[in-house]
Parts: sequence; C-alpha cells; structure tokens
Amino acid sequence: MTISKFINRLTLPVKLAAFPSFCELCGCLLLEPEEKVVCNQCLTKIDINQGPVCRVCGRFLFGANNLDSLCLECQKNLPPYEVHRSLGFYAGYLKELIILLKYKGNEPLAFRLAEQLFRHFNHQGILTGIDLILPVPLHPKKERQRGFNQAELVARQLARLTRCPLGRGILVKTRNTPAQVSLEAKERELNLRGAFGVRKKELIQQRVLMLVDDVYTTGSTIRECALVLKKTGARQVRALTLARA
Ligand SMILES: [Zn+2]
Ligand SMILES: [Zn+2]
Repeated sequence: MTISKFINRLTLPVKLAAFPSFCELCGCLLLEPEEKVVCNQCLTKIDINQGPVCRVCGRFLFGANNLDSLCLECQKNLPPYEVHRSLGFYAGYLKELIILLKYKGNEPLAFRLAEQLFRHFNHQGILTGIDLILPVPLHPKKERQRGFNQAELVARQLARLTRCPLGRGILVKTRNTPAQVSLEAKERELNLRGAFGVRKKELIQQRVLMLVDDVYTTGSTIRECALVLKKTGARQVRALTLARA
C-alpha cells in the first residue's frame, strides 16, 4: 500500500492528529475534508469582480452603467476570440493562490481554483456548448524545467467539472520566447508572433474552443493563441483566466 492510500484509509480524527495540514495562506489547521492546501475561509476572501465588464474582452469597467458595453479597445479593434473573462484582479488572495499554484503545481489547489471559475461562470453561458478545453501551453523546455504547466492543471480540473474533453498537445508553443514580464504591450505582441502552433488540426476544425490560462496581462497570449486556432479553422474561441493583471 502506498503512503497516500494508507493515509486516505485513516479516519479523519486520526489523520488530523497524525498528519495535520495547515492552510498555506493563513496557517490555520485544515479540518474539512475538501480543504486542501488552503482553507475555505481564505477562498471566500478572493475578490471576485461582480461589476460590469466589456462583453468581449472582459475588461472591468468602472462607473459604466451599461451592462452590455464594449470597451474602447474592442470598439477600435475586435480581438480574434469571441469572449474572455477573469475572476478578478491579480491582487490579494487571488494573487497569492496563483503564485502558490505556479510554484507548487498542486492538483488540489488547481481544482479549488477551477471550481471558482466553474461556480462563477457556469450560469453565464460561457461554458455552454464547448467542444474542447485547451490550456495555454508552455514551451516544452520550460515545462520540463518547471515540471508542470499551471494552466494545464486548472484546465484539466475545469474539464472534469464541465465534463468537456481536455485537448492536450493540440495547441503547442513552438518557440521559446523570453519572459513577457519586462516587456511593454507592443513588445509582448511581437515577442509572441508565430510562437504557437496547432497539431492534430482536424480536432479543432469547426469546434468551439475554451482556452484556459492563469493570468491575463495585456491579452497578447490569448490573442495570439486565438489567432492561430481561428486560422486553423476553429469556429469559436473563448477564454477564461484566473486573474487580470
Ligand atoms: Zn487560510
Ligand atoms: Zn473589451
């Protein structure tokens, strides 16, 4: 019997006494069976945007009273994807959780974050009628270094929750681009041009696709992925990210 199977067979009081686990954010003892990595209390502190957003790119619109508005950027130039939404700003508890996911690659934490996406967006129709969920890929070299792709961890859990297939190895990063962090918006765009490719093209043609990533900063990654998927024949590209920076 493996250690984890052995631990799973123990009753909760024994487990808590022998193998206590603590919330990675606030340090409290995790008591509930579904509490993995972080406590329920810390999850409720995620600041989820409830205000109006641009109906295409999901930009948070402050002071806008029209619920069906289009932001200035989208009015000027519609992105190649149909719709994108984020849970909230890359700040506070949400930021802490994403950092934790990025450095630990923890499946239970990915599940808890995907659950937030599912809960918040399931009734909004974005998750309806999707044929395939695609994680934004890392370059294979980078994924080997890190040991996982955090976007794929979340995408896999979202696929479980929506009962929609997860497409692995379909959207691929073919060029290892320098980190985007230090670049300006225009440079980010250029940095990513032609960096993604599509394998097994027949699997996405005429399909409705959902891209999943952790953070949406200038949107250049989602745009570049959507562009290549559309060129290959995808019918619709939607995107969900955990946070917007
Ligand atoms: Zn906590
Ligand atoms: Zn917009």
